[in-house]
Amino acid sequence: MKILVINTGSSSIKYQLFDMEHEKALAIGIAEKIGEVTGRLTHKVPVDDGMPRKRVMDGPIKDHREGMNRISALLVDQVLGVIRDKSEIAAVGHRVVHGGEAFQAPTIINEAVIAEIKKNTPLAPLHNPPNLVGIEVARAIFPGIPQVAVFDTAFHHTMPRHAYLYALPYDLYQKEGVRRYGFHGTSHAYVSERAAEHLGKGLDSLNMITIHLGNGASIAAIEKGRCIDTSMGMTPLEGLVMGTRAGDLDPALPFFLSRHLKMNLDQIDGLLNKQSGLKGICGTNDMREVLERRKSGDDRAEAALDIYTYRIKKYIGAYIAVLGIVDAIVFTGGIGENAPIVRELSCHGLTGFGISIDREKNNAVSYDIREISAADSNIKVLVVPTNEELKIAQETKKVVTF
Ligand code: ADP
Repeated sequence: MKILVINTGSSSIKYQLFDMEHEKALAIGIAEKIGEVTGRLTHKVPVDDGMPRKRVMDGPIKDHREGMNRISALLVDQVLGVIRDKSEIAAVGHRVVHGGEAFQAPTIINEAVIAEIKKNTPLAPLHNPPNLVGIEVARAIFPGIPQVAVFDTAFHHTMPRHAYLYALPYDLYQKEGVRRYGFHGTSHAYVSERAAEHLGKGLDSLNMITIHLGNGASIAAIEKGRCIDTSMGMTPLEGLVMGTRAGDLDPALPFFLSRHLKMNLDQIDGLLNKQSGLKGICGTNDMREVLERRKSGDDRAEAALDIYTYRIKKYIGAYIAVLGIVDAIVFTGGIGENAPIVRELSCHGLTGFGISIDREKNNAVSYDIREISAADSNIKVLVVPTNEELKIAQETKKVVTF
């Protein structure tokens, strides 16, 4: 069975075609800068034990429909194609950021589902509209092929009321859906499953803290496979320090920015979402650059890393309290997988909680799932490479073969 996974942003379409018999990506690509003159389409065909075959096409991509049409043509291309006909695709899985309270599981897309996703747009004004565009063009280009929505929020729907409700007038929850939803659910779910497999235990017998550190970052408390708390909130702004997002703040800060600095709402939104986090503190949102600058003595880069890892440590402590017993802590995402110093500082001083990292194992370069805790650490610490696209394909397969 072949499943196409699509992740549509406001100016991009990321895609992967999976062979589900071997859970292997047959083709991977991205159409970027859609609608700009400098558009680019990159299509890669992974090759076992070798460099992927690749084509990069520069030039404008008028809109998402043209992007998807070109992707569809590449999949059947004489040279770089991986299928003979698009009818070989059994289903298309779409990443949809916000499922609100309505969607607690992957769902086959029909008109009613589209209408419900649209209803959630005020909760995710930047994400749900492009996701809907992706669904619309994929339905037109792959007619008759089932389309499935896989929601970033769905994994977190098991949070109890005391974790998801804010202490605000209750009407705001009942009438407007104001509450914690959480994001990165596909990644938290995937890495917790892989970690349980690695530990040779059932997910339902383990308590874990999963830490996704990419450009966005979030942490989740998972009790026997069910999420019971997570750091992102109604929007992805809450919680950990991120590349360009501030994370947790004094909620009165926007009043100060407005009253004292006369900033309007859009400016405050931009400041907290795009100009803050690592970038706000030291000028770059790229962790590799932060680490390089820190090494060469840059004090701001040092501050950025300290603030970033201190926040993670605080959440680890909080989620140990929330879970009571913790079996494993899992790091994932571009930073969680590749930055040993971030893992080390985030767990530094937690031996009293039964967490200690083996320096050598932590510093070893690897792209596989691995344990980095010391032999005497009560809580295992793991690095688990995430694969959100594969998880979307797996969920899509479950829905269409049910
Ligand atoms: P996204 O959330 O966009 O999927 P990623 O999960 O790819 O992002 O994470 C991007 C982050 O990972 C960037 O801050 C990047 O600097 C960081 N990163 C990638 N490789 C390394 C590395 N070798 N060392 C430190 N940070 C890294």
